[in-house]
Amino acid sequence: MSTARQAAIAAVTNYKTNGAALNFKETPTSELFSANVFTDKVMKDRLPKPVYKALQATLKKAAPLDHTVADAVALAMKDWAIEKGATHFAHVFYPLTGLTAEKHDSFLAPTGDGGAIAEFSGKELIQGEPDASSFPSGGIRATFEARGYTAWDPTSPAYILENPNGTTLCIPTAFCSWTGEALDKKTPLLRSMQAVSKQAQRVLKLFGHKDVGPVYATAGPEQEYFLIDRNFYFARPDLVTCGRTLYGAKPPKGQEFEDQYFGQIPERVLACMLESERELYKLGVPVKTRHNEVAPAQYEIAPIYENANLATDHQQMIMQVLQRVAQKYGMVCLLHEKPFAGINGSGKHVNWSLGCSVGNLLEPGESPHENAQFLVFCAAVIRAVHKYSELLRVAVATSGNDHRLGANEAPPAIISIFLGEQLADVFTQLETGKATSSKAGGELKVGVDTLPPLPKHAGDRNRTSPFAFTGNKFEFRAVGSSQSIAGPLVVLNTIVAESLDFVATKLEKATGGDASKLNAAVQAVLSEIAKEHKAIIFNGNGYSAEWHAEAEKRGLPNLRNTVASMPSLVKPDSIALFEKYGVLSEREVRSRYEIYLERYCKDINTEALCALAMAKTMILPAGYRYQGELAQIASSLKAVGKTPHMGTLDTLTSLVSKLEDKIAELDAAINHKGAHDLMAEARHFHDEVVPAMLAVREIADQLESICADDIWSLPTYREILFIK
Ligand code: ADP
Ligand code: MG
Repeated sequence: MSTARQAAIAAVTNYKTNGAALNFKETPTSELFSANVFTDKVMKDRLPKPVYKALQATLKKAAPLDHTVADAVALAMKDWAIEKGATHFAHVFYPLTGLTAEKHDSFLAPTGDGGAIAEFSGKELIQGEPDASSFPSGGIRATFEARGYTAWDPTSPAYILENPNGTTLCIPTAFCSWTGEALDKKTPLLRSMQAVSKQAQRVLKLFGHKDVGPVYATAGPEQEYFLIDRNFYFARPDLVTCGRTLYGAKPPKGQEFEDQYFGQIPERVLACMLESERELYKLGVPVKTRHNEVAPAQYEIAPIYENANLATDHQQMIMQVLQRVAQKYGMVCLLHEKPFAGINGSGKHVNWSLGCSVGNLLEPGESPHENAQFLVFCAAVIRAVHKYSELLRVAVATSGNDHRLGANEAPPAIISIFLGEQLADVFTQLETGKATSSKAGGELKVGVDTLPPLPKHAGDRNRTSPFAFTGNKFEFRAVGSSQSIAGPLVVLNTIVAESLDFVATKLEKATGGDASKLNAAVQAVLSEIAKEHKAIIFNGNGYSAEWHAEAEKRGLPNLRNTVASMPSLVKPDSIALFEKYGVLSEREVRSRYEIYLERYCKDINTEALCALAMAKTMILPAGYRYQGELAQIASSLKAVGKTPHMGTLDTLTSLVSKLEDKIAELDAAINHKGAHDLMAEARHFHDEVVPAMLAVREIADQLESICADDIWSLPTYREILFIK
């Protein structure tokens, strides 16, 4: 008998590459970079000078584009795309599913005399009208008004998507309803970037920087992912349907040897990475690092940081390209937060800062004056994270991420900030108004020479902290690997905007335009923040039980899962915050609450149905078959006068009967009477369905570990993770 599992193993061990190797010597990567991007340089070369100037001017002002300019840009874009083999153009947008959506239209227009010409107008560039009715809208879009529209985002360049059979011109867009509400992830991100820019400019002005231009939120996301052979993938209904395994006994070897992190990258995997990176270079994504991650079959890719909008679009491309290229190498890229129990899951560390013509605002400076400015921005972030930690928690709340945050791996669901010893010490000194160490030699005064030189690079790296200062940026580590980074960035930008607003208002009042009063005012605001928000700073081990107790004492919320986190999104304070800074209207916030809760229910429901089907049709039958085999052996032995050993059959019989019970319980939990209230429904899934699924799994995994190998049809962890 050959099971799907045995067939998969045979196929994996006989793997041969099917494509020709890349011609990497002929085309240097420097030539490839941005080869498929309608870059600023391409525009400069191809657009008439006045058009180029007009476009740049509108970009700077973020004003609407003049129609004649749009037509000229569209024409240049079309010619460029057609030279690169494009037959179609697509408005690319980012709906609230977290995925990338695209609607393709052909350039071709019939001429009426049997011919056809390629056309692309400014209007088509600027605006599209995809049917919005099939995207989640959380009640914003009334059913009689199904249309939504996409609007060109000229701050994220158009690009060419290649396919062996043709190419497509892709235009990044925002996606809104006709009533003007954002149905997507990009619109609020752009709004939040504007909000934080405006408030940061106010603070910079106080420090004597006039006309600094826009301040950009910057982001550098590190993507973790798994690569496994596609034969194993297709032999596992749970991976295909849910992106994670719902069953699987602990393998004899997991990640305990610590031999994986930064280990040698397997040849097939490296080949796949090289091709992915090459594709990403062509799209202008500045991918920089790659390495083996902690778990077996787990890897990481990280780009150089960019402004948050571009970084977000590029992050979506990274996920798409990884998945597409993996297939060419006979593998599947798993982006789920927890594909395998018992080994590390995947996250997406989002490095974040603020940058402008003055430089990186979270970079400690050379002089005391610069350091005072740095401390103000740093303190604003500390205050924001403390005041709105629940919003940061909501921004990373998904069913997948529930397996990481607050479960048995990094980071905990309690949001705290790691500052590093030196910086934490500075804030302690600011708080007490006294020197706690000899570093400063007396009372610490900002803006004067008593301020100690600040860390250029954070020495210690605390991997357990969900939000860490790492020398010149903050790293938000709680983001899930499959998530769009837009949501977390929207929250970060908005809460920091509010904090900078608070600081700027205080400083403006205290100085009254008199620059000589700045140092004293800064000193006062910093010690106020240090006093009121010190509870969020924690440099210790975030996994420890002591921290959980300590955090509770400090009043830090510990929202352990999605269902517990979601209510924070619609608290009056949260809604007021998003409204005040023009990031999300109340309706938009509420729609997101609904969409994300509904998504949670659907995720768990799908997993439960899949778990049930597998239990009934694959796992239980394997148990029955082995039971039958053992029973037959026992009776044959008896027939020849031997006393059979019944130990295994007894264990098996007990497991099979328990499994039948647990299956019935899961069935009942899924087929509950649906609640009217979405939150009640989500709670049911969390409180009843998830534990019922786990109970089935527990028995199933025990069965796996005693069942005859040739009867078990699901590829095991040992095989999926180690046969490469
Ligand atoms: P590590 O976390 O391993 O030290 P790096 O220091 O290279 O790695 O940074 C990790 C990520 O942080 C990279 O994507 C990098 O581009 C990004 N990063 C560095 N500086 C900034 C910044 N000012 N703003 C946002 N991201 C940044
Ligand atoms: Mg890092």
